[in-house]
Amino acid sequence: MDLGALYQDVILDHNRAPRNFGEMSDASASSAGHNPMCGDEVTVYTNFRDDKIADVRFTGRGCSISQASASMMTEQLLGKNLEEAEAEVERFKTMMAGKEDFPEAEDLTALEGVIRHPSRIRCATLAWTAFHKGLLEQKA
Ligand code: ZN
Repeated sequence: MDLGALYQDVILDHNRAPRNFGEMSDASASSAGHNPMCGDEVTVYTNFRDDKIADVRFTGRGCSISQASASMMTEQLLGKNLEEAEAEVERFKTMMAGKEDFPEAEDLTALEGVIRHPSRIRCATLAWTAFHKGLLEQKA
């Protein structure tokens, strides 16, 4: 198994310098996720303003795939409304299931190699699942 291809530069960069990393004390939604298979932990905080995501941040620790994917997710979701954000989560999970092509020219494409390593797919989807759970709890 070629793990080298998994750890592309983009993933390493997001892992070394995660975007939007840190806690948020006034989050309107927050939710934690845990991937026991790999030991990854991620908590996602979201704040809406004028029905759009004005701030989304995460904290966590674990493998570089889990942390890089969380970092990329925050960049992907900023400025989106609820409906668009849910569509982004859905799209990402469909890509990780190998049912949709990865977009060119987006950092997310660096995660494409992960789908050839099924045991690591949960690392990549962890933050997205946590984010979505937080939204659903907020709506409830
Ligand atoms: Zn992991």
